[in-house]
Amino acid sequence: MDDLSHILFSLGEERDNYFRSIAPPIMQTSNFAFSSVESIRSALKDEYSTFLYSRGKNPTVDILCKKLAALDGAEDALVVNSGAAAIFLSVTSQVKSGDHIISVRDPYSWARHLFDQILPKWGITCTYVDGRDVANFEMACKPNTKLIYLESPNSWDFAIQDLSAVAKIAKSKGINTICDNSYCTPIYQQPISLGIDLSIQSATKYIGGHSDVVAGVIAGSAALIEPMFRSEYMCVGSGIQPFNAWLLLRGIRTLEARLDRSSKSAKKVMEFLKEHPLVEKIFYPLDPSFSQYNLAQAQMKGAGGLFSFRLKLNEIDKIEGFVNSLKSFLLAVSWGGYESLVMPKCAGIPKNEFSPLNEQHRMVRLYIGMEDPAYLINDLSSAFLAVQDLS
Ligand SMILES: *Cc1c(COP(=O)(O)O)cnc(C)c1O
Repeated sequence: MDDLSHILFSLGEERDNYFRSIAPPIMQTSNFAFSSVESIRSALKDEYSTFLYSRGKNPTVDILCKKLAALDGAEDALVVNSGAAAIFLSVTSQVKSGDHIISVRDPYSWARHLFDQILPKWGITCTYVDGRDVANFEMACKPNTKLIYLESPNSWDFAIQDLSAVAKIAKSKGINTICDNSYCTPIYQQPISLGIDLSIQSATKYIGGHSDVVAGVIAGSAALIEPMFRSEYMCVGSGIQPFNAWLLLRGIRTLEARLDRSSKSAKKVMEFLKEHPLVEKIFYPLDPSFSQYNLAQAQMKGAGGLFSFRLKLNEIDKIEGFVNSLKSFLLAVSWGGYESLVMPKCAGIPKNEFSPLNEQHRMVRLYIGMEDPAYLINDLSSAFLAVQDLS
């Protein structure tokens, strides 16, 4: 990647065009005026390279696209209204009726919905594989396989795929690859440099960083991004609005610093949890206890502030009691903001289906935000004491 500081603080900013203002302007306009019929005629011919109408290109959005493409080491990037839209656009741009997709098992829920509910309407089928073993991809290949869909790491159990090995297999068979990189961001992992064709992420998480905007990114070669812009992107009309693009630009200034703080604090909180008698096991790709630690170390530069752990509590009321007692962690989905979050797996199942024998049901996910880790450890410690009082 170009020098990271250059990307975050300088690349794409043309201050001579806007009164040398430090912060870029929010170009809150739907359309752009031309001085002659000849000039609007050439703009109409090529919306990819002109500011004509903001469903296509917009100057504030364009600054963001340049930075995000460079962060991913990609030639170009598109920013859309959600990570789910990034999944939808990137996948549908790569397949047609009758094609077959191989996806890593348990991808993000709305990717799964796309594969199971929407694409079958057009005769597109999907096979799920355990991505921890590269051989599973090769075995699932069919003559009509056109796309391999990856998510590394997964955002609950952090299972990872050997991205360069999968990319190599795919290339040898003329199959394109997409990797959901929301967990790492391009700062900690660059799928494109490992041979993946399209790197996508939910910008709602770390890029925005302040829990106030929903957005998604698709990065790749110009050969893939330009036709996607001219077709699916323009047709769906889900490009990010200028104000939200501006919020992401503001978020991105501190991306590296926030990730660094979040990772360091997460390590301290994990050290506390590992020693606690009510904690059975923690799950974090860059913890030496992680089952794929060597692969994680080889392809990731960092792992951020999201991890999970399994409680040694056999009653759902105690797990709920622990979570409900936390005061400094907000009980919420998502992650990547300034605030620490907690999410128990048992919130996703009907209460009477809880089984202590199902290890998944005892999992709790934490996201460590910008708070002082001692403040968070204190809160966890009190919540454990509150649970012990329940027995
Ligand atoms: C949140 C998330 C998404 C979806 O992003 P939205 O911005 O919420 O639409 C996709 N993939 C992963 C791994 C996510 O965590």
